[in-house]
Amino acid sequence: MSPTAAAKPRAKPGDALAAKLVRLGIFRDEDLVLHLPLRYEDHTHLAALRDVRPGDTAQAEGMIVRTDIQYRPRRQLVCLIEDDAPRGARSQLVLRFFSFYPSHQKALAQGNRVRVFGEVRDGHFGLEIVHPQFKVVTGDTPLPDRLTPVYPTTAGLSQDTLRRVIARAIAVDPARTAEVITGDFMRRRHYWTFADAVRFLHTPPPGLSRPAQNALDARTHPAWTRLKFDELLAQQLSLKAHRKARAARRAPVLTGTGKLSGELLARVPFKLTAAQERVWSEIRRDLKRATPMQRLLQGDVGSGKTIVAALAALQAIESGRQVAFMAPTEILAEQHFRKLSIWLAGLGTDIVWLSGSLPAKIRRKATERMASGEAPFAVGTHALFQEGVELPRLGLAIIDEQHRFGVAQRLALRGKGMAEAHQLMMSATPIPRTLAMTFYADLDVSVLDEMPPGRTPVQTRIVNQKRRREIVQWIGKVCAQGRQAYWVCPLIEESEKLELQTAVALHAELTAAYAGSLKVGLIHGRMKPDEKAQTMDAFLRGEINVLVATTVIEVGVDVANASIMVIEHAERFGLAQMHQLRGRVGRGSVESVCVLLFEEPLTDTAKQRLKVVYENNDGFEIARQDLQIRGPGEFLGARQSGVPLLRFADLERDVALIEQARDMADELLAKDPGAAHAHLERWLGGREEYIKA
Ligand code: ADP
Ligand code: MG
Repeated sequence: MSPTAAAKPRAKPGDALAAKLVRLGIFRDEDLVLHLPLRYEDHTHLAALRDVRPGDTAQAEGMIVRTDIQYRPRRQLVCLIEDDAPRGARSQLVLRFFSFYPSHQKALAQGNRVRVFGEVRDGHFGLEIVHPQFKVVTGDTPLPDRLTPVYPTTAGLSQDTLRRVIARAIAVDPARTAEVITGDFMRRRHYWTFADAVRFLHTPPPGLSRPAQNALDARTHPAWTRLKFDELLAQQLSLKAHRKARAARRAPVLTGTGKLSGELLARVPFKLTAAQERVWSEIRRDLKRATPMQRLLQGDVGSGKTIVAALAALQAIESGRQVAFMAPTEILAEQHFRKLSIWLAGLGTDIVWLSGSLPAKIRRKATERMASGEAPFAVGTHALFQEGVELPRLGLAIIDEQHRFGVAQRLALRGKGMAEAHQLMMSATPIPRTLAMTFYADLDVSVLDEMPPGRTPVQTRIVNQKRRREIVQWIGKVCAQGRQAYWVCPLIEESEKLELQTAVALHAELTAAYAGSLKVGLIHGRMKPDEKAQTMDAFLRGEINVLVATTVIEVGVDVANASIMVIEHAERFGLAQMHQLRGRVGRGSVESVCVLLFEEPLTDTAKQRLKVVYENNDGFEIARQDLQIRGPGEFLGARQSGVPLLRFADLERDVALIEQARDMADELLAKDPGAAHAHLERWLGGREEYIKA
């Protein structure tokens, strides 16, 4: 025990409860009001034991005729109950508990009458319920007259306790359910009052019709609509607050001279596409402003984001500022480093490299040059925003594949004085419209909607594993004619080690298959950075014909001559991943092919994903369908500011509400900012980190 522990005041009895509530995001009594049910259970009537069927969720009552602990196949408490029919005609039900306490055993003693609730299934000894809710009753214990709410909860916090504290929080202070937005804002839009909606959801009135119950479950009931609207309104208001706060911050004005960027444009072997010109001018304009840019550059794989980022970097450097360019993986960061080094060679702009795996001495040198301001351009992984790295003259931070950075990394970034720097984020994952209106609404977005010329669309083939040999032969043939191929190993999420073994085995298999004719290389996440770099170099120079890779090559890697991509066990990959992998090829002028090898049996989702990738080449369309298959959660990994997640509203289904909330937020801020503030306080007041951002 630490010496200070004794000095602490004794815990108050409420503290344990308060700690559990905090785990649910409930910091204040007011937050209890907004802790809404997940769903409802109907405890209003009893089913006769003889009527219950497997698959029913039923409530029934009976006398306990036997309770014992059984040990096979594992320790469990088994309890048999029986109805009141005449002897010989009685129906029975087994209750089974795999985890239980002595208190269970005591309550479930023979001769007690219990009321149980749960899903009935067919057991070895007739009908049973596993882990039913139960309570000991007498023959005339009344049934509830209304639906029973079921709340999100946490370990050690019972539904009964939650119901009690919520009911009390509502009853104690009418201000907690009062309308904070007065006037006719809500009425004009025909929403329920907040008080009515909250009461209805926590304690639905007795005797609800079937349709009303269904609407409650589906969250389409007007009571839900009001709460969802309020939630979306709070989100819109907080986004607008972010924007305003950002507008009040000062950032260095990066006017540039056009010298370095002009030279870069003159030396790259291509002309910017119209789309690149457009986004570059948007960024150029932002950088000249005294408020920090927060712009997302969105463009499909291969659309040419890097050159735009490089131009932005040079404008900052021309203005005497430092630039940090970060990528989420070492291999991708290194590719940027090398490409930028080539592009900028001889322009007098030093680039320093920083990654976690750098030897201490070299690292120290790099960080010293950054700290002294001597190095204007730092490229690397998230090592760039770790402890001990300082960029005192930082003017611009560029974050590639920003959605792949974790929350903690993004928070670290915020602390790095980045709040005062301009930020350019890049992503190949397009944001679906509803997310653009909500979680991303505080960012400015530039879209590269045009591919550089000379690309040929990638042909996608879906091939059964059974025909693998044909693929091996075909690749052998075309690579002997000078083409190059990636062969991506299956994703094994549970085990990096297994993934590695698979890669090694595949490498051995292909080496044997192409013995004497082709060189097969191997690249994986466990390799040292310089080994990886050497392998990538050899592939780039054409010394390796077929490159076996784990998913390390997923993002951004660019080898123009590689025109074949084989994805093994494609059924294990997500849509966006497959699309990104496919985007590694099709960068040169030869017709490229992406082979999706799959193994049966396929789940419905896997089938659907393969079909979507097969039918679409457009990243935006794929992202849209991805959202439909998976829901928006994954895209949100992306958010770099502390915008609150939605608990009640659904981004796919509540589009109309999102639009209304957006309009109302504008109206409210213009006409009644006090009410806007009170509304934010109600919804987010307890969650400071959300508002601060
Ligand atoms: P991504 O948007 O996926 O990051 P990159 O920036 O890696 O794409 O660009 C893909 C390839 O296209 C690179 O080899 C890049 O040099 C090249 N490229 C970029 N812009 C053009 C252009 N306007 N014309 C021709 N090639 C271009
Ligand atoms: Mg890229």
